[in-house]
Amino acid sequence: MPQQSPLTRIPLHTVDFDEVPKQQFRVYTARDLDKIKELQLLPESLRFEMKVVSAVLPFRVNAYVIEELIDWQRVPNDPIFQLTFPQKGMLSDVHYNRMAMAIRSDMDKQALKLVANEIRQELNPHPAGQLEHNVPCDSAGEPIPGLQHKYRETVLFFPSQGQTCHSYCSFCFRWAQFVGDKNLRMATTEADKLYGYLEEHPEVTDLLVTGGDPMVMKSRQLKSYLEPLLHPRFSHIQTVRIGTKALTFWPQRFITDDDADELVELLHHLVLAGKHVAIMAHYNHWRELDTDIARAAIRRLRATGAEIRSQGPLLAHINDCEDDWVKLWNEQIKLGIIPYYQFVERDTGARRYFEVPLYKAWQIYRQAMQKVSGLGRTARGPSMSADPGKVEIQGIAEMNGQKVFVLRFIQARDPSWVQQPFFAKFDEQATWFDQLQPADEHSERFFRKPAV
Ligand code: SF4
Repeated sequence: MPQQSPLTRIPLHTVDFDEVPKQQFRVYTARDLDKIKELQLLPESLRFEMKVVSAVLPFRVNAYVIEELIDWQRVPNDPIFQLTFPQKGMLSDVHYNRMAMAIRSDMDKQALKLVANEIRQELNPHPAGQLEHNVPCDSAGEPIPGLQHKYRETVLFFPSQGQTCHSYCSFCFRWAQFVGDKNLRMATTEADKLYGYLEEHPEVTDLLVTGGDPMVMKSRQLKSYLEPLLHPRFSHIQTVRIGTKALTFWPQRFITDDDADELVELLHHLVLAGKHVAIMAHYNHWRELDTDIARAAIRRLRATGAEIRSQGPLLAHINDCEDDWVKLWNEQIKLGIIPYYQFVERDTGARRYFEVPLYKAWQIYRQAMQKVSGLGRTARGPSMSADPGKVEIQGIAEMNGQKVFVLRFIQARDPSWVQQPFFAKFDEQATWFDQLQPADEHSERFFRKPAV
């Protein structure tokens, strides 16, 4: 294990955080909707709609989000309200009416759960072949639940203690992780299997710890997973990525939580030992950056030597406007965050409420890009995390007299596909890769479904 450098403490404590008052973490779930006093000001009908939707899709919000991020004067149109609170349009009329009727008829808990589970199964709980195609096997051919290995260089690890979040995003593509159905969960506590797998795969350079949100874990748990990676047998793991939305939903995690110091020291220790630590921060709206504690948490994380890269989907009702993206990316640059991805809303859960036609997503991306400096143009997108890989919409063009989408794979299961341009027929309604048709013979192979 590398020696602790005498520099370890210096950069982490250059900002005096002792002045920041400690806030208690208070969380509300579907059971507690009636306890949220701000909701009492809304019409009863709206509150009933929230109850119906939250009986199917996960709901969890904390007091910091309610009190400091949501502008209640703007509700229901406030973007952070839309980001966290259930809305009627998130379910189809058929699903909504079914659940509403079940609730009104006073069904018991078990019966309600059955109805909810049936509806969930119709919401494509595991998009892009996450369970069928991405779970790797150990040397004995046994699948390793809680790991995903889709792209050659990167392994995803889902530690079981990190399979929740400080609040839930209403559009979450991993929503199925949170609804209490064990069949829908991906998680592992078996770190040994992770280490064994990494040792057998020297081509893997990046480990992405993800969830849920791994930052809900205690620092000592995170440490127990990450410190072993400093052993020389993992020298091929250059980068430790941690996917998180804690910088938005609970920035106190990095400042005032009891084990916040331990957390930042762990990250700094990994950096000093030669790992690239990348915080893959999930952001959807510039308002998430707009509190003192959110900015302080960013400064403190950056002081560890970790890089913060931002990513998030483009969503109707939240950020389908170029000016919001311009402001988000500009603020991030100011704070030292590297814009990384703009995603397309995935084909799962509440997608019907949030989806934006692909041509419109591209227009928003392009117009926003034109208004930021070169440092903001590092964000790739709009990108679809589809079954064969991450497909970026590069533009709209004309080919042989027909209008086409110009596409490319930013990442692909088959590395030889990466960066190859290909084409799809223009479709004004299309919101996802599966709805597109190849525009020419050369492009056909990229649309074929992989064998299971
Ligand atoms: S933070 Fe990420 S995993 Fe958690 S609810 Fe939001 S999108 Fe889903």
